[in-house]
Amino acid sequence: MPSTLTHLECSRPGCGRTFDYSQPQNLCSACKAPLLARYDLAKAKRTFTLEALRGRIASMWRYEEVMLPGPPVTLGEGKTPLLQAPRLGDHLGLARLYIKEEGQNPTNSFKARGLSAAVTMAKRLGIGTIALPTAGNAGGAAAAYAAHAGLRCVIAMPSDTPAAIILECRAFGADVHLIDGLISDCGAFIAGNAAANGWYEVSTLKEPYRIEGKKTMGYELWEELDGTLPDVIVYPTGGGVGLIGMWKAFEELEAMGLIGSARPRMIAAQAEGCAPIVRAFQQHAPASVMWENATTVAAGLRVPKPLGDFLILADVYASGGEAVAVSDSELMSACVEMARLEGILGAPEGGAGLAVIQALVERGKLASDDTVVLFNTGSGYKYVEAWQAALL
Ligand SMILES: *Cc1c(COP(=O)(O)O)cnc(C)c1O
Ligand SMILES: [Zn+2]
Repeated sequence: MPSTLTHLECSRPGCGRTFDYSQPQNLCSACKAPLLARYDLAKAKRTFTLEALRGRIASMWRYEEVMLPGPPVTLGEGKTPLLQAPRLGDHLGLARLYIKEEGQNPTNSFKARGLSAAVTMAKRLGIGTIALPTAGNAGGAAAAYAAHAGLRCVIAMPSDTPAAIILECRAFGADVHLIDGLISDCGAFIAGNAAANGWYEVSTLKEPYRIEGKKTMGYELWEELDGTLPDVIVYPTGGGVGLIGMWKAFEELEAMGLIGSARPRMIAAQAEGCAPIVRAFQQHAPASVMWENATTVAAGLRVPKPLGDFLILADVYASGGEAVAVSDSELMSACVEMARLEGILGAPEGGAGLAVIQALVERGKLASDDTVVLFNTGSGYKYVEAWQAALL
């Protein structure tokens, strides 16, 4: 069954403007909020069942009714393992701890999901050059999918991005600009040069399709847990695309009659050196305030003011979840524990998620029989500098 994509819709409550997906789109032209892809779910539900999925392609493109129209630009992203983590679970006092191992994606992070989707639509729309600011892995993924699709790719990233990531962007033939600053400075560089150069911006949530790739993590959990959802999802949060995306997947699943109204508690894990969502959560605020002088080894979490902050916070609140920050030394110690107890060399961002689980267990916020899914969002093999420092 082909995609049932119908239109794009503004995500701002009360705006509701709609847009045509057969044209390149960025933010809502009226209120500057991110746009969300909408599908004919009444039609999709006729063929979208657990049984029907069984024989399909082993990538995120298996969810074709609720995915973008292809042909997909794919390197085999998604369908990552949901691993049981019994030794780590014993150590923490959690009987049902799982790790969603996103480090096994192409270019070794879950950014592959979003960029596969974004590049698929860019190619379909006849775009020649994509451009984006990145704190790291999004650049590597964009460069890889652009190479695969035959598009040009312009990337702006902080000059202190992990060396392996800068190297892969260059290897994939991207035009790499190293900026002495944060992702927000890189964003200003791309936004300031895009129009004059004819670049199409695929910055986080500034184009509508990366979220469609990342929402497949929610579909995969549902499928892997045999039509159920976990009690708790711990998500290392930078721009929050995956958290917003999984929440969107759960809404689509409910609209198709495949789950009820219960949701997992969504836990946003951040680093103490850049925790705008945690600070907003503690103040019960609907949006975040720019975090000054952001610094953390978890490069993907170094997002001082996420564009979709109001969506992240709304989903965390609605789920009865939490937003918690940990220090760089806590998150790297957690990485070492994950490695020694489970054989997974995690990204520092994944370590942040694990350290947050430890903190929540200590505060009595997780029950020993809760089904808890930790997202290890990337591979530690791309963070050699951070790992070397942690093992000294
Ligand atoms: C980008 C990134 C994150 C944050 O992802 P968002 O969906 O933007 O919040 C977390 N971990 C890693 C490894 C990343 O590359
Ligand atoms: Zn709007």
